[in-house]
Amino acid sequence: MNIPVTVIGGYLGAGKTTLLNRLLADPQGVKLAVVVNDFGSVNIDADLIANREGETISLTNGCVCCSIGDNLALALHDLAERPDGPQHIVIEASGVADPVRIADYAASHPRLFLDGIVVVADAETVRERVQDKYVGDLVRDQLAAADVIVLSKTDLVDADACRQVRAWLAAEVPGARVVAAPGAGEVADLVLSGAAGCEAMSRPRADDEHARQFATWSFVRRQTLDGGALRAAIAALPPAVVRAKGVVRLSEAPERRFVLQLVGRRWSLEPEAGEVRDDWASDPSVIVCIGLADQLEPEGLEALFAATPTGHVPQAARALLRREGRS
Ligand SMILES: [Zn+2]
Repeated sequence: MNIPVTVIGGYLGAGKTTLLNRLLADPQGVKLAVVVNDFGSVNIDADLIANREGETISLTNGCVCCSIGDNLALALHDLAERPDGPQHIVIEASGVADPVRIADYAASHPRLFLDGIVVVADAETVRERVQDKYVGDLVRDQLAAADVIVLSKTDLVDADACRQVRAWLAAEVPGARVVAAPGAGEVADLVLSGAAGCEAMSRPRADDEHARQFATWSFVRRQTLDGGALRAAIAALPPAVVRAKGVVRLSEAPERRFVLQLVGRRWSLEPEAGEVRDDWASDPSVIVCIGLADQLEPEGLEALFAATPTGHVPQAARALLRREGRS
């Protein structure tokens, strides 16, 4: 099983460490390794991290997206090669780093895969920062790289200002998934579901006295699904869906299982690694979506996925499948 890697980016002071600490406060049993890049004179971020279960690696002598990229590559290599390594790796980028370059390091090791890029944006200051003549381009690039944008410090602005900044982000970053200041369990839902199974993802969210931001929706079918229809449905998912995971069987290779991973704008649908098992043939296809509770529309999602079972595959496609010896 390959190890998912999440990159947390965002400008200086945006609230990356707060997000990380919320994740570490409730890692939901996932064994985490955290790589922190902070190269200021005081290494505050690493001091704040109170991680008991996992491990924290601090890279401090430069920026991991450029000057000390080799150190990051080595640290990731070391984590990936360990026999009892982590189940998930989270990299906290420095405030001036380009998250895409860090993500490239994560994607270059065969045992690691880039799960997603989460960029933290300060609700109070992000628009000013983008206008800034010195750092504006950097902040804009960070936002553009985001699969999910976490809006921080929403308690410092009123509801109206919060709506405005969300609308602005939606225009600035097409298709952006914007999540407002997630609490501890929510950060885990957002970041760690890549390492969790569908079952863990589909458990009820409302286990907290605060109004929970997320809701889940599940899709289960006994039949195999049509890969083309499924890929089209995933690509058409609304921005209300921030996370999805699935283990499905496709008519194009019914003996296999395929794993769907979706983090905001990023998704993949790949054959499950390892040997094909005989008992997979009777497995149902399961997809679980986590989305913003106030925007998630179960009927819309149901309609979107309704065409995915093979019953809807046109005759011509069936003939093609038979020719290729798959049915
Ligand atoms: Zn850099």
